[in-house]
Amino acid sequence: MAPIISRFAPAPTGYLHLGHVVNALCVWGITRARPSASSGQAGRVLLRIEDHDRLRSRPEYEAALLEDLAWLGFVPDGPAVRQSDREDIYVQALDALRRRGLVYACACSRAEILAGAGVRGAEVRGADELWYRGTCRDRGLAEAPGFGLRVRLDRSVERFTDLRHGPLEQTPSDQCGDLLVRDRDGHWTYQFAATVDDYVQGVTLVIRGDDLLSSTGRQLQLARLLGRTQPPEFYHHALIMKSAGQKLSKSDRDTGVRGLRAQGWTAAQVIARAASLANLPSLFAYHPKP
Ligand code: GLU
Repeated sequence: MAPIISRFAPAPTGYLHLGHVVNALCVWGITRARPSASSGQAGRVLLRIEDHDRLRSRPEYEAALLEDLAWLGFVPDGPAVRQSDREDIYVQALDALRRRGLVYACACSRAEILAGAGVRGAEVRGADELWYRGTCRDRGLAEAPGFGLRVRLDRSVERFTDLRHGPLEQTPSDQCGDLLVRDRDGHWTYQFAATVDDYVQGVTLVIRGDDLLSSTGRQLQLARLLGRTQPPEFYHHALIMKSAGQKLSKSDRDTGVRGLRAQGWTAAQVIARAASLANLPSLFAYHPKP
């Protein structure tokens, strides 16, 4: 088996918090713990700055993320890549989908979709998510500024084995409908950019929190449409909560790495705090395949 290639993929829309630290512990911990059976080589962790959201991403957050990560001692294998530098790669990927007749222009705003399409429950996450009913699918609109771009997701039951949850299945056409790849302001969406990057960068194991579990089926389907024949594996870890029922947020002063540093915490103390909140022994209920 080849060594794992995983990635740590923060969005520079805020400072690093204990939720990121838990994710980093899982990413680096699992990747380094599973050497290749044939070569004995340890896996590689790529660092990807997910700044596809141009409106909310800020260079100062990126600088702070990189600095906090280094302070904590998480060292990636190779330089960070930034999604905003990968425009050509996304354009090429979109062209490949377009050549297959899978892309169409969409005039619908989020508010219109909310009003007209209804919200369906996502089967895995249990939370409501927006489902697009395909209003513009057959309208034949010309691509133009101010229109979004979507990719057709025909009905497909996506089956995968999450390395923590076990076998799962998701049906993206029922969860979200045709996937938005570029929004009406011309920004690539998270689903598209992350799927293209995981494919092009050769990521073999995606390690992330349960909040993204419901995205996995659509990313598998999209990757296949892009030409990926060998899908990555997935490990979704539990999210840490601020208190029962309260999720961590980037603005929480008491869980931000910066804030804890300013209060005099050491890197080891911050990591220990994240590990204890996350109940890490159970997170590491991960058993590599023989
Ligand atoms: N950029 C995402 C986040 O910060 C992570 C995406 C992923 O791991 O697929 O939550």
